[in-house]
Amino acid sequence: MSQRTDGVLYLIHYSSDIGLKGKNRPDFVRQLKANLRRQLPLRRVQEVQSRLLAWGPTSDLDLSRVFGVAWWTVPRVVAPPTWDAVVATGVAMVREAIARQNVRSFAVRARRSDKRYPKTSLAIERELGAAIVEATGLKVNLTQPDLTVWVEVLRDQAFVYTQKFRGYQGLPVGISGKVFGLFSGGVDSLMAAWFMARRGAAVELVHFHAFTEARYAHQDKAGALAQALAAFIPGLRVHYIPYYLFQAATLSLSARDQRYELIIFRRFMARAAVALAQKHGGQAIFTGDSLAQVASQTMENLAAVDDAVGSFPLFRPLIAFNKDETIGWAERLGFYDIAKRPYKDCCAIISKNPATRARLARVRALEAQLNLEPVLQASLDAVETIAYPADDLPPWPGPTSSPNPVPGA
Ligand code: ATP
Ligand code: MG
Repeated sequence: MSQRTDGVLYLIHYSSDIGLKGKNRPDFVRQLKANLRRQLPLRRVQEVQSRLLAWGPTSDLDLSRVFGVAWWTVPRVVAPPTWDAVVATGVAMVREAIARQNVRSFAVRARRSDKRYPKTSLAIERELGAAIVEATGLKVNLTQPDLTVWVEVLRDQAFVYTQKFRGYQGLPVGISGKVFGLFSGGVDSLMAAWFMARRGAAVELVHFHAFTEARYAHQDKAGALAQALAAFIPGLRVHYIPYYLFQAATLSLSARDQRYELIIFRRFMARAAVALAQKHGGQAIFTGDSLAQVASQTMENLAAVDDAVGSFPLFRPLIAFNKDETIGWAERLGFYDIAKRPYKDCCAIISKNPATRARLARVRALEAQLNLEPVLQASLDAVETIAYPADDLPPWPGPTSSPNPVPGA
């Protein structure tokens, strides 16, 4: 292998979820390789003894954007992996770390994927550890070392590294089918999309906007969040639907029935998402609902939305999340600064006091009276679809604290 002429070598370990797949594993690995190339400027991604090797232009790529990655590093390569060369590399890397940061203690962690290698993992750890003590005078600390020296021995090469970075595990996007999410521009449906993608779903979003044209939503918060999500979700598209057609159709609701407007809108949005899913090969829809978070998310109201889509699968990945957990994820990912911005939200326009226990018979009767079928058709005819990342928006800069180092590194 000619690492020098090919740029910077990345060593990538995939998620335990992929590792568990028996006969199908090659399909999962193939999708992960394709996504690594599609989402990042990586070339020549290849599988070597249950790891991936890839070459990139610089050493600072953030591979946590690719679901299915458990962790990665930019290792030093020792080929062939003679013991003297492994020791020399390990000692040199510890010396470099000492020059860079405050190191008093270290640990060596070895794994041997070639059982024919003349030393066991334990012998590698002991002997390399002893050589480092002798060369540098550092102390060994196996529980809380300032520095960890990892050694992986493969058939015809060894990798040595002192830093590694965590990915978000999961499955490569695209391997588990396609889902259409109702995306409000708020934090819950944003994170619902991220979690569905983390399970390998190809995600498309459906957004009802309260603007005169889709491009205003695209240039506002909804588009900015889609731009950020697209860093994790290759092929992301947002289907923008104007809200005003529904709004005009419900003007005739009596003051007494206005408390049903929100639930009728939810059902309307769910039907629109199903129609788009069926048109574009989606097998399910999802929302950002969380049980009893707000009046519109009572058990009865969630059931009323299910009723609108019949047997079409409707997922709610955040159903059992607390709001602060959802926000915590959005903060960690660097989404929250955008998600908390104010936005011209259609649901905020609708009644502040929705029915908490929608009576299904009443809801259905009102829908029939409003004659919503043609309104749904007209709304679908007015869909504008935008693909992300979009060229006319600034690229998402990524979270400030990424990538996530593994402690001890
Ligand atoms: P979010 O943080 O996603 O806005 P929320 O906690 O504010 O959720 P609701 O306003 O009750 O809750 O919305 C519940 C769900 O309905 C959202 O998570 C989303 O899936 C869907 N939804 C709400 N408004 C819209 C919209 N304008 N366009 C598309 N989907 C929407
Ligand atoms: Mg909301």
